Amino acid sequence: MKAWEKNIRRVTPYTPGEQPKRPGIIKLNTNENPYPPSPMVEQALKALDPAALRRYPDPTCAKLTQALAEEYHLDPEQVFTGVGSDDVLAMCFMTFFNSEKPLLFPDISYSFYEVWAELFKIPFQKIPLDDQFQIRTEDYFESNGGVIFPNPNAPTGQLMEQSSIEEILIANPDSIVIVDEAYIDFGGESALHFLNQYDNLVVVQTFSKSRSLAGMRIGAAFASKELIKYLNDVKYSFNSYTMSSAALAAGEAAVRDRAYFEETTQRIIRTRERVSGELRALGFQFADSYANFLFVTHPRIPAQQLFEKLKEAGIYVRYFRQPRIDNYLRITIGTDEEMDALVRQLALLTK
Ligand code: PMP
Repeated sequence: MKAWEKNIRRVTPYTPGEQPKRPGIIKLNTNENPYPPSPMVEQALKALDPAALRRYPDPTCAKLTQALAEEYHLDPEQVFTGVGSDDVLAMCFMTFFNSEKPLLFPDISYSFYEVWAELFKIPFQKIPLDDQFQIRTEDYFESNGGVIFPNPNAPTGQLMEQSSIEEILIANPDSIVIVDEAYIDFGGESALHFLNQYDNLVVVQTFSKSRSLAGMRIGAAFASKELIKYLNDVKYSFNSYTMSSAALAAGEAAVRDRAYFEETTQRIIRTRERVSGELRALGFQFADSYANFLFVTHPRIPAQQLFEKLKEAGIYVRYFRQPRIDNYLRITIGTDEEMDALVRQLALLTK
């Protein structure tokens, strides 16, 4: 062993869903949006002057921040943006979770939380969801160094009541509570309306799902001006120019086209509801989803077997080899045609 090896930070990284190299794959494994971004995004990108790229982008992300503030009726100083919500969440972990007490999050949740906690040496405790995969609010009433959970939860797709979120906010006046709303636009109600009541709340959202911009890497956090100021202080201590000029322009255009956003999210919701019925008819069991994916199990056929057979048939879904959920598949809602192909395959595999 080399002497320097003892000084190396060793971490177990997050494993993202597979990005297939083969063409023609029906890709339902990373919760991307099957529809292209708003035509206004295309226009905004075409309007970019390549010569202007010699300049650094606006470090304050003012135009994007302004668009988001207008859209959600907030002050621009209550908005922070970053390179996908992964970047925003990582900044939040660094900024808000510096206690000796453990950060609390559900055992079945976004697996990146644990990775950041390890990376930033934040003590943490995973709290088991109940047997129905729901958060028991009272589990989050104990003294802690922070709380984070996705709503809807991932990968379960289950939505938490606003009253339960409020109970957690009220029980934790001394810690920051982050609600990760990566999937909120597919039928859930955002916790943004709590911002003027609770100064311990941070809401994080992404442009990767409902705004069809996973490839641009855009995410946002909303909180009190005070918390956003702390977040910016950490950002400017790390990397001032996080977002590219292209991402800033594309993001602003996407926010401004509310009609397109509503049309495409509604289309995904309609497909989800239709396919939910069809999968239940094939014997699949699952709670109602409020996200752009379904989290399903079959009483007879092991999920891993279905995952592998689907893959052979050119349909990628997500399978987690993890305690409690290793007999489930997470299936992203694609176009109607993609979902028809999926249902046809699953009908054959479950016969
Ligand atoms: N939060 C949750 C719950 C997610 O599922 C994802 C997607 N992997 C993210 C955050 C991060 O998404 P992005 O970095 O693309 O904004």
